[in-house]
Amino acid sequence: MNNRPLPDGLSEADLLGGLARMAEVVGKKWVILEPEAGLTAYYDTQSTLPISASMPSGAVAPANTDELQKVVKIANEIGIPLWTISCGKNIGYGGPAPRKPGTLVLDLKRMNRILEVNVESAYVVVEPGVSYLQLYEHLQKNNIPLWIDCAAPAWGSVLGNAMERGGGYTPYGDHWMMQCGLEVVLADGTLFRTGMGAMENSNTWNLFKYGYGPYIDGIFTQSNFGIATKMGVWLMPEPPGVKPYMITFPREEDLHQIIEIMRPLKVPGVMQNAAVLSNLIWEGAISTTRDRYYRGDGPMPESARQKMAADLELGAWNMTSSLYGPPAVIDTLWQVIEESFSQVKGARIYLADDRAGDPGWEYRKKLMRGQPNMTEFSLLNWTGGGHVDFSPVAPMTGDEAMNLFNICQSNAHEFGFDYVAEFFGGWRQMVQVFMLLFDPEDADQRERANQLFSVLIREAAANGYGEYRTNLSFMDEVAATYDFNDGALWKVHQKIKRALDPKGILAPGKQGIWPL
Ligand code: ADP
Repeated sequence: MNNRPLPDGLSEADLLGGLARMAEVVGKKWVILEPEAGLTAYYDTQSTLPISASMPSGAVAPANTDELQKVVKIANEIGIPLWTISCGKNIGYGGPAPRKPGTLVLDLKRMNRILEVNVESAYVVVEPGVSYLQLYEHLQKNNIPLWIDCAAPAWGSVLGNAMERGGGYTPYGDHWMMQCGLEVVLADGTLFRTGMGAMENSNTWNLFKYGYGPYIDGIFTQSNFGIATKMGVWLMPEPPGVKPYMITFPREEDLHQIIEIMRPLKVPGVMQNAAVLSNLIWEGAISTTRDRYYRGDGPMPESARQKMAADLELGAWNMTSSLYGPPAVIDTLWQVIEESFSQVKGARIYLADDRAGDPGWEYRKKLMRGQPNMTEFSLLNWTGGGHVDFSPVAPMTGDEAMNLFNICQSNAHEFGFDYVAEFFGGWRQMVQVFMLLFDPEDADQRERANQLFSVLIREAAANGYGEYRTNLSFMDEVAATYDFNDGALWKVHQKIKRALDPKGILAPGKQGIWPL
């Protein structure tokens, strides 16, 4: 109890006094103060920094919007900072933990109602605590022919992931693009709806994104300007046909040619969903362990990687994607895709029924049908569970892909780590997610991982690549790379912050935005 980190400027008595008032609102059980009572669930155990660097003072979990508004008002009055999470599965980016020690986690997992399912217009309205698995099971149980699009963790929040602008694997994989209509609570407790929802009796809140007047939904994503309490999400009608495919490519340098083939297929929509290009170790780590191939220190040597590739029938790069629609359309598109990627020497194509028993291919096929699962997280066994994601955005060209790959792999190897990564092909850009895996029990590894991450931020920025999202520990460093006109955009963010949350109680430090 005495180790509790406190928010700036508050005594323990101030904090406990505020929490006692919050307990009157939400019930004593839903104010969590002690590690033994469940507070450890809000720690980030995968960080390059010790747990104390992001340790909350406690957590509070309201059951509905009314309770949430009351909690926020108490926090605002006393000056207790709140870190909002929905399901708290922001894995690789800090999970449920706050940016600053002593912040109180505002956990919205109890607000988990599916408020509307509109089959005709293919959308749902959800509260923050609705997980992918919950929504998926609801649709299945009720035989509703709509697909969700999930991120890799099945327990993740539909709303929370969209607020972080996360991605998935069906043609509806850009989660923020598929958001339509938001309900928001501000730091002073004000509640409002965006877009058409601003009309009392609107019938298009979840059908038309833009409404009338300034379009402000986006400022609540990756920010600390408000708390989202409801979100409309467009869903994909179950397609009449699906054709998932995996193509392996033998050499690292094939990356250039693959990306040059991919871009003219992605931009006009011949490739309909995210084209995910994972490297050998990412794909291999799903089905095997590191010590089967290498027990030494430092990155896995080339000879061990070659052996793993041969045993598992994997390439240096492995692309998974899928086609959707009427079979005649799929057949036509497939001809183009097959011919195009077959130009890469040594490319091997696998279809749905191939690679029997390969857990990597199985989970990819599920994700591309919006079937939530947790398989991807077996990757964390590779080195002991430490994990931060480095996620820069680059133009979708062969030269840029090779450049980014070389920066990340050579630095990873120099600092003694494996390069475990996937390129996520967007429309004109790609995101490379480098999963920096390390043993959090090993102080030296943690320190090296921490240094490596900063080097990557700097080198990527020097080459024009900015991160689209980042881990708690690096939010300020990444924000500083957005430096056009002396960091003018972040100064605008600070002005908005001051206007909407003058006491700075919502998520201090989120994305490098601090109370002033
Ligand atoms: P998931 O479980 O899908 O990964 P989280 O609940 O971990 O999502 O949320 C990810 C991040 O998104 C949080 O750290 C927070 O910054 C932001 N966030 C989550 N829920 C909300 C919300 N209801 N309102 C505003 N921001 C949110």
